[in-house]
Amino acid sequence: MHYFFKESAILEAEREITLEAEDVNHAYRVLRLRKGAAVVVADGRGAAYHGIIVSITPGEVVVWLVEPAQNSEPALKVTLLQSLAKGEKMDLVIRQAVELGVSRIIPVLTERSIPRLTGSREAARLLRWQKIARSAAAQCRRAFLPPVEPICDLDKVLKEIPGRLALIPWEHEHERGLADLLWQIKPGNNEVLLFTGPEGGFSSAEIEALCAAGAKTVHLGPRILRAETAAIAALTMVQSAWGDVGTGPLSRYNLRDANRK
Ligand code: SAM
Repeated sequence: MHYFFKESAILEAEREITLEAEDVNHAYRVLRLRKGAAVVVADGRGAAYHGIIVSITPGEVVVWLVEPAQNSEPALKVTLLQSLAKGEKMDLVIRQAVELGVSRIIPVLTERSIPRLTGSREAARLLRWQKIARSAAAQCRRAFLPPVEPICDLDKVLKEIPGRLALIPWEHEHERGLADLLWQIKPGNNEVLLFTGPEGGFSSAEIEALCAAGAKTVHLGPRILRAETAAIAALTMVQSAWGDVGTGPLSRYNLRDANRK
């Protein structure tokens, strides 16, 4: 079932919509879809509809919306703050985080971030990341399109922390493991911030500032993980505990336990 986004529309059953221009060529020439083909159209804000192509030309695809499609959004809202990492690493983190149900992605320029993007290069890279998020969301059938926000600095991160459970995977944390924490607390407002460092790691000043703002450092085991591995490992663990990734006993325990508190 092919999945398309139409962010500019209010979707409702028994209505006709046309696909976005950027998707017409893909539908017509790449997927070679024809009249009568079944598709799903999502608005990027959480609504998706089953539809049938009623007309398709190289310049336009018209879809008749039939009925709502299943929603695949986790109850848990996870914001992934990812320190700018080199080259394709950010692409990989964005793609896999979207598949794992992340709600928002914020690239962060930290002291040891290597890429220093400015002006048109920054704008072009942000557009690229947003396209990667869009295609990952369509591929994994998400009706919600997680935003990739503009690159920010540590100050903005510090402002995001109050009132949220903010977890900082940090290789120099040797006491508190992320898995331990998952059994102890549940995010009161169902929101978690995850902030992973760049290839060179966080500076001690950054860790101090983050902890002073209420963030908790956690370890992901004794080995040093690549930045992109750490982000995805931490997100998977958090989603498996409180979200919907392989929701096993941990999530049921946490939900039950949280309701007891
Ligand atoms: N400082 C590291 C070193 O000694 O090589 C490099 C940083 S590591 C490549 C990139 C990021 O992944 C870190 O900033 C941290 O957020 C996360 N990370 C890597 N291994 C980790 C671990 N065992 N526990 C928690 N976080 C880890």
